[in-house]
Amino acid sequence: MRVLVAEDDLTSRLVLEKTLAKWGYDVVVARDGIEALDLIESADAPALLVLDWEMPGMDGIDVCRKVREREGGRSRYIILLTARSGTQDLVAGLEAGANDYVGKPFDPSELRARLDVGSRFVELYEELLATQHALEHEAHTDPLTQIMNRGAIMARLHEEVARAKRGAIPLSLGIMDIDHFKSVNDTYGHAAGDEVLREVVGRSALALRPYDALGRVGGEEFLMLIPGAAREDAWSVLERVRRVVGDTPIELSNQLIDVTVSVGGTVALADEPVDQMLIRADEALYRAKELGRNRVETSPEK
Ligand code: GH3
Ligand code: MG
Ligand code: MG
Ligand code: MG
Repeated sequence: MRVLVAEDDLTSRLVLEKTLAKWGYDVVVARDGIEALDLIESADAPALLVLDWEMPGMDGIDVCRKVREREGGRSRYIILLTARSGTQDLVAGLEAGANDYVGKPFDPSELRARLDVGSRFVELYEELLATQHALEHEAHTDPLTQIMNRGAIMARLHEEVARAKRGAIPLSLGIMDIDHFKSVNDTYGHAAGDEVLREVVGRSALALRPYDALGRVGGEEFLMLIPGAAREDAWSVLERVRRVVGDTPIELSNQLIDVTVSVGGTVALADEPVDQMLIRADEALYRAKELGRNRVETSPEK
């Protein structure tokens, strides 16, 4: 575990550094509060901090306050070191944001025990953050293809519609459906079908631009958002997706599987509800299927 020690007194600093290193800590030292704050604000700063209270320039209490003000998503565990022992001082230290308090000169076994509590806190907090990130990712991600799920892409669609309206920029979208996908499953098995879904997603993503979005809205149905492109340019993005999926067969355990997609595209019209736009794209998709599949149809028509 990495720990930052801020202590202005040379002797105490060396003793602390040596002692903590002996206990297995990876020690970063600062000679005063200003240097400590600089280090704390660097990207890979330790989360466990031992701060001397009395330091010139910026004391430990000031550092505490600044750390708490600017914490933003990380949680630091702060132990103040001080010769002060009055209740008033203790309260002031805790109010400034310290988690704990060790008297000076420090008793090694006490400091060690309190550092252990701090490292445990930091570990648990980091596990909690990691779990939270994983859950957030899961809530928005389709597990099979690792792209946005239905909820996430629909939320993005609403954001893009609002952005388009604000900036008076065009927004196009495409609904893509794999052709005769049922027969891929029937012929090659469900597991192969899953692989095909992943490959279709991988290929489509390559054909989209960085600011476009791709989400899985149903079994073998995907929604693509294409903001900021003139209508004809948006249609050529959709056409590129169709070709990158359909032009080369998908190779799965030495079998070549021909897979094509049909796409219905549309462009947002001023002040229309999102549902209306999706209905139009769906109608275009239906037409693409009717006209023989493996094609892009748009509405309003080209
Ligand atoms: P069309 O060209 O008209 O779209 O024909 P289709 O066969 O693609 O359409 P249909 O809706 O009849 O079949 C869709 C199939 O997609 C049926 C379903 O079993 C399959 N499917 C849906 N989700 C998954 C999935 O996660 N994995 C696999 N392997 N298959 C899936
Ligand atoms: Mg001091
Ligand atoms: Mg289909
Ligand atoms: Mg379908």
